[in-house]
Amino acid sequence: TALVIAMDGPSGSGKSSASRGVARALGLRYLDTGAMYRAITWWMLHHGADLTDPAALAARAGAPVLSIATSPETPSVTVDGTDVTAAIRTAEVTGAVSAVSAVPEVRARLVAEQRALIGSGDIVVEGRDIGTVVAPDAPVKVYLTASPEARARRRTAELSGTTVEAQREAMARRDTLDSTRKADPLVMAADAVELDTTELTLDEVIAEVLRLVKE
Ligand code: C5P
Repeated sequence: TALVIAMDGPSGSGKSSASRGVARALGLRYLDTGAMYRAITWWMLHHGADLTDPAALAARAGAPVLSIATSPETPSVTVDGTDVTAAIRTAEVTGAVSAVSAVPEVRARLVAEQRALIGSGDIVVEGRDIGTVVAPDAPVKVYLTASPEARARRRTAELSGTTVEAQREAMARRDTLDSTRKADPLVMAADAVELDTTELTLDEVIAEVLRLVKE
């Protein structure tokens, strides 16, 4: 059976770096499902969709053509043939993504594509609902957490022109939206192992996940 490693948790919990590190260490593919929600959001913004109108978003959910690479070295994503790997990381997309990812039609479409990508091959998959919805049979499920301070500090270090305080507020807002939406809210799978990364280095987090894989 395939080795699917589900890595869920909120932003700033260290998911992306840890997931890529684990994939690299084990020679596995890596899928960033957040990048897929971001790419759809970029497309909606680019096409002037009304983000306050869920029905309008639902009607267009199937239109953008997505393609995502599954290499942990160079994760890239294109939408309608345009490489949006960098464009999906802007504050504009980050501020809009929760509204788009709350739309059930968007989720249904992306969950189906994620399952197809996961297929029967070994892979590390990072997101919010991997252990609960996308791959409930994954043999390894990790739920990463960190203190709000640590998460905001990490995010601030990745970005420019922002402050820890502004990031803490933006993250709290996105957490609330992601965990209170009706469709597949962010919750920990009952059989996931919770890993608090607040006091851990990236290498320590990777080592802990590799230990869980060997168990
Ligand atoms: O992980 P990242 O911060 O890039 O995810 C961006 C957004 O995409 C999240 O805030 C959430 O709204 C959405 N998302 C989701 N389900 C996933 C991955 C991401 O709803 N599996």
